[in-house]
Amino acid sequence: MDVKGISDRGLGTRASRFRSMPLPRRWSRDALPAETRRTLPIVVPVAGAGAFAAVAAIHSLIVDWPGGSTLLGVAGLLVAATLAEAFPLPIEGVNAGATSLAIVFIVATAAIYGWPEAALVGLLSIALVELAERKRPPIRAIFNTGLYVCAATVAGLAAEHWRGGDLWDIVIAGFVGSAAFYLVNMALLSAVIARLRSENFFATLGRYVTTTILPFLVIASLTVTLVVLWDRSPFVSLVVVGPLITIALYERWLHRALDRLREFDRLKDEFIAVISHELRTPLTSVYGAALTLQKQEVRGETRTALLAIVSDEAARLARLLDQVLSASRLDAKTERFEIAPTDGVEVARAAVDAARTRLSDGLELDLVAESSLPQVAADPDKLRQILVNLTENAIKYSPEGGRIEMSLSSADSVVRFSVRDEGIGISADEQAQIFERFHRLDPNMTRGVGGTGLGLYISRELVEGMRGRMWVTSAEGEGSTFSFELPVA
Ligand code: ADP
Repeated sequence: MDVKGISDRGLGTRASRFRSMPLPRRWSRDALPAETRRTLPIVVPVAGAGAFAAVAAIHSLIVDWPGGSTLLGVAGLLVAATLAEAFPLPIEGVNAGATSLAIVFIVATAAIYGWPEAALVGLLSIALVELAERKRPPIRAIFNTGLYVCAATVAGLAAEHWRGGDLWDIVIAGFVGSAAFYLVNMALLSAVIARLRSENFFATLGRYVTTTILPFLVIASLTVTLVVLWDRSPFVSLVVVGPLITIALYERWLHRALDRLREFDRLKDEFIAVISHELRTPLTSVYGAALTLQKQEVRGETRTALLAIVSDEAARLARLLDQVLSASRLDAKTERFEIAPTDGVEVARAAVDAARTRLSDGLELDLVAESSLPQVAADPDKLRQILVNLTENAIKYSPEGGRIEMSLSSADSVVRFSVRDEGIGISADEQAQIFERFHRLDPNMTRGVGGTGLGLYISRELVEGMRGRMWVTSAEGEGSTFSFELPVA
């Protein structure tokens, strides 16, 4: 578990602040954020010890210059360590962040060649990756580099006694080196985190060790395997490359899939909260109107108004249920499409006429269609459903009023439908998400606008089910245009 990964992802909000520290223009104390300054008592000694170990390693290599085959072997392990460092693995259940398999190659260098070579491989592999990732704050890069050099040096010194012995010595050297690297890494990392969070050092260390002990054992076994194979012949050790790459790819795939599931789970929870609210509102109105009608002698206009509430709210409930069922059919790929040549203008006019009855003051809704538009290959009911969804959204998200325009035009063998509003708009980074199931930009309904977050998902799925495509262009505060194209019949 390298600290790079840990300070990248494992520390929650504090970590991300640690990560995104702005680069100070000059290296003055005041230019550093308070949190960074808190970590200096750990970072400075680690960086100092790392620098000292690196200088000592270079000196030792100059004094006792290694032969050509050693240089070649170290270069191979350095390339492997740098690649592994550049692509760390997120391991499920390890809350200390992504794991870098670079440790395998650094410790292998320590167990095969000695501490100076290991310190150099540690230094170069992390320094190259840190330099390539320029966004990282220098203090983090300095700490990570210092930590790697220290851990590699300690691993080399710890394994020294068994290095170059018989088979069991080699196994012990690999294991002891791994354990030493791991302990230094965990201890220094816990020290910096504990200081950052004002926690007890031993409690932090205990937490990290508990969650990383299993991956450590896997890494230690891989190191021992590599060292033993290398002892037979460095070329034989290439056989571990295949399994390593497979493990790496599989882990990444698994992690991405789990992330998607977690996000979906979160959205589902949000959906349950939203749908409960959406169901309760019309039910309360219907219940209230029914009670009044039951208890009192209500006549004339009041009676008509109460009955209108009952029918409007019941229709709203039915629409809500339709949406949920439609989404579930689309999800299960059981939605049926009855594609036929369809007059888009006629369908659009019907959607606009229906929407006009619900138009609030200050809103204007127009239909603009090119003359002699060709018919589209579409399911008329689905096309209407899409246009109704888009128009309802345009109305809902135009709280200040303004003009809504539905327009139809033709281009190369497609007809384009657009619904443009002058409402609240959608920021660029949110535009891709709004088409996802249950996704609402305002899940807590702070704006008081209800919805299930299913309308756009259903609309896009329906458009794609009719061999079309859908997209949005929008600017926050200026309005949005939702467009889709369907093939000409
Ligand atoms: P909802 O039922 O919440 O309206 P949709 O899937 O139709 O669900 O829309 C998803 C989210 O996209 C909405 O919650 C809203 O934040 C945003 N959105 C949709 N249409 C518009 C629009 N015309 N203007 C601004 N935001 C919109």
